[in-house]
Amino acid sequence: MHGVGISSGIAVGRAHLVSHALLEVAHYQLPKHLLEQEVLRFEQAIVTVKADLESIRRQLPASAPAEMGAFVSTHLMILSDKALSEVPKDIIRAELCNAEWALKQRMDDLVAQFEEIEDEYLRERKQDVVQVVERVIKVLLGHPSQVALKEQESAIILVAHDLSPADAIQFKQHRFAAFITDVGGATSHTAILARSLNIPSIVALHHARDLIRDNELIIVDGSQGVVIVNPDKDTLSEYKLRQEGWELEQQKLKRIKLTKAVTLDGTVIELYANIEIPEDVAQAKAAGATGVGLYRTEFLFMNRRDSPGEEEQFKAYRKVAEAMKGLPVTIRTLDLGADKQANPDTARSCANPALGLRAIRLCLAEPQVFHTQLRAILRASHYGNIKILIPMLSTLSELRQAYLMLDRAKQSLRRENILFDEHIQVGGMIEVPAAALNAEAFAKQLDFLSIGTNDLIQYTLAIDRTDETVAHLYSPLHPAVLQLVEMTIRACIKAGKPISVCGEMAGDARLTRLLLGFGLRQFSMHPAHVLAVKRQVLQSSLPKLTLDVRKILSIQDIDKIEPLLQKLNL
Ligand code: PEP
Ligand code: MG
Repeated sequence: MHGVGISSGIAVGRAHLVSHALLEVAHYQLPKHLLEQEVLRFEQAIVTVKADLESIRRQLPASAPAEMGAFVSTHLMILSDKALSEVPKDIIRAELCNAEWALKQRMDDLVAQFEEIEDEYLRERKQDVVQVVERVIKVLLGHPSQVALKEQESAIILVAHDLSPADAIQFKQHRFAAFITDVGGATSHTAILARSLNIPSIVALHHARDLIRDNELIIVDGSQGVVIVNPDKDTLSEYKLRQEGWELEQQKLKRIKLTKAVTLDGTVIELYANIEIPEDVAQAKAAGATGVGLYRTEFLFMNRRDSPGEEEQFKAYRKVAEAMKGLPVTIRTLDLGADKQANPDTARSCANPALGLRAIRLCLAEPQVFHTQLRAILRASHYGNIKILIPMLSTLSELRQAYLMLDRAKQSLRRENILFDEHIQVGGMIEVPAAALNAEAFAKQLDFLSIGTNDLIQYTLAIDRTDETVAHLYSPLHPAVLQLVEMTIRACIKAGKPISVCGEMAGDARLTRLLLGFGLRQFSMHPAHVLAVKRQVLQSSLPKLTLDVRKILSIQDIDKIEPLLQKLNL
C-alpha cells in the first residue's frame, strides 16, 4: 500500500487495529421504565472519558510539545459542550433508544453541520468531534478506554482510520514501532505529532484499516510511504537488513554531532534548525544545530481561543534566545492565514486562501497584532542573539510598511526605557516568485534573506501544498524552481548579504550538494535532518560542484535532471 510518509525510518511488527467503535454501534429500543437508567449510563460514560482525558493531560511528559496539551483541552471542551453531553439524553428519552445510538445520531447531526462550513480548517474540526464521540462509545461498549497493551510489545504497529492527538500521547508511553492511518495530510495534526514522536509513520493510506487484520505482520517504510502486509521471507529479510542499516546509519550520524560542518575545501557551512515551539530547542541542540534559522511563531497562536499577549510572547521568545546561549535565533513574524488559522471560529473564508490575507499581508492589515509581536520580539532581543524574519514578502512597499511598524515598536519601547537590541537584524523570506525575481532589490533593503521553498514551489508551480491530489506534481527539481532558487542566492551574494534556505529543500540531503553548488552557505531544517545534511557537507568539494551544478541549471526537462542529480551525489 502507498501513502504519504510523514516520518522516516523502517519498522517491522504486528498490526494492532485501533478500534473503530463507531462501526459497532447497534440500535435498539428500550422500555420507558429503563430510560432513566440509560441516561445514567450515558452520564457515567461522559464522566469516565472526562477523567481519562484529564489524566492524560496531567501525565503529559514535560518534553511533550505544547500543542499536545491544547489538543487534549479541545477534546475536553467538546466533551463538556451541551451539544454533546446533554442533547443525547433528550434523544434517548424522545426516541426510547440506547445511549450509543443517541450519541451517534447527535454526532451525525453535528458532522453534517460542520460539513456545511466553507472554511476548510474549521470544517476539518469535525474530526475532533468524531474522536471524542468514539471515546465515549468505546466506554459505553465496554472497551477499555485506554489502549491496553503491554510494555514489552514494542514491535507493534498501530493501524488506525485516524488518530486523535490524545491517543498519540498514550502511544508515546507505549513506545510503538510505527503508526499508519487511512486519512490525514502531511500538515494534519497527526503529522505534527508523528514528527515529534520520531517513529516511522504514514498517512493517507485510504483503506489500511479495512484491509489489514489484527496481528498480521507488516512492514512500514516511512521514508518511501510504503506498507507491506504479510511479506514473504525474502522481502522480510531484505527490509530487516534495510532497518538495521537505517538504525546503524542513525547511530553513525550521531558521531558527527560535534564536528564542524566544513566542506572538503574548507568552507564553513551553517546548519540551523527550524522550530515551532520553545521546547523544540532541546532537539535542535541535540542535533548540533548552530542556530535557529526559522522559529515559526504562529504555532503559539493556534489551537486556542484567545491570542497570546505581549508578555506571553516575550516569555516564549526569551526562552528560546536564552536556551540557544548567544547562537542566532531567527524569529519569523506571524505567518498566519491559509491553512494556519489562529481561531478557526472567526476565520474569514475565501476561495484561494493561500493567495489571500496571510503572513505579512495579515500583519499589516492587523497593525495591533503586529505591533504586539514586534514589541515582544524586540524585548526578547535583549536576552540573546535574535533576528527578525518577515514572511511572504511580495513588494517592497510591504517591506517599507513593516520597517515603519518596527520603528514604531522600537520608539514605544524607548519611551518606556525598555532595553532591546538597537541593531537587531531584519531579514525577509523569499517565497513568492515575484520576490525571487526581485531578490536583488529585497537584498539591498534587508540584512539577510531566507528562501521558503515550500511556498516558493507552491506558488511557482501553482500546486496547493496541502492538497494530496496534486502532491505528485509538487517537485523541488522543476527547472523553474531551481532557477528561481539559484537566482535568489546569486542576487543576495551580489548584494553582499547572507542568505539561507529554510524550506524542506534545505533538509533533504539529496539536494545539499545542489544547493551548495548554487552558492548556499546557510541551511535551516527540521532538527532530525541536520546530521544527514552535515555528512553531505563534509563529503563535498565546492569547486567541483559549481561546474556540475551549472550543467543541471541549463536543463529544461525535469526528467533529465534526476539522473544528473544522482551523479552529483556519487
Ligand atoms: C516555506 O514556505 O518554505 C517555509 C519555510 O515556511 P512554511 O513552511 O512555514 O510556510
Ligand atoms: Mg512559507
